[in-house]
Amino acid sequence: MNVMLLGAPGAGKGTQAARIVEEFGLVHLSTGDILRKAVADGTPLGIEAKRHMDAGGLVPDEVVIGLVQERITQPDALEHGVLFDGFPRTIPQAEALGAALAESGLALDAVVSVDVDPEAIVTRITSRRQCRACGAIFNVVTDGDLETCTQCGGEVYQRDDDTEATVRKRLEAYQAQTSKLIPYYSEHGTLHTVDGNQAPADVYAAIADILRAIG
Ligand code: AMP
Repeated sequence: MNVMLLGAPGAGKGTQAARIVEEFGLVHLSTGDILRKAVADGTPLGIEAKRHMDAGGLVPDEVVIGLVQERITQPDALEHGVLFDGFPRTIPQAEALGAALAESGLALDAVVSVDVDPEAIVTRITSRRQCRACGAIFNVVTDGDLETCTQCGGEVYQRDDDTEATVRKRLEAYQAQTSKLIPYYSEHGTLHTVDGNQAPADVYAAIADILRAIG
């Protein structure tokens, strides 16, 4: 089963993705996580990506598409299926993904759009924290201002692009480009919509119902 999570920055895709991969055994493909790792490792790709990420813009399509093409053809992805999180973000990325999946004889079984009120997003993102080691996501309002991860003991930090000014730019990129994927997938795929304003456990219950029905 190959599944995609769509949603604005801060919609809760990362939080839901962690739960989904645990229950359904999919390979979690987060282009944001791959890019942050490249930045942390100081690779040429990371240096190029950081400029765009810090400015709240999108990394060029060809760079991200190349990363995804490489990942989805690895044996674990072919065997277990993939959960796409944060990819695609543009129509050309969606088209490239469709072509790459078709080439491997694969299909997208579900696209789940997590819908959140735009006013809630800036507060959600600026209070978000993440574990540098395992990627677990926390929130200072609900979890307190943690210094170490409750799951692995790693360092909890605030992403460089989770500041208010950058969030506003990321939301502009979402409106201008990524939001177009919702009409695209209602035409070219199986689009399901869940209410992302609910508590994380309730959002997960709604997503899991959809995936159990198709899985
Ligand atoms: P995320 O962790 O998904 O919020 O992504 C963080 C940042 O990485 C984004 O604001 C973009 O700069 C970059 N990024 C992640 N995924 C993509 C993508 N599919 N296309 C272009 N840029 C991306």
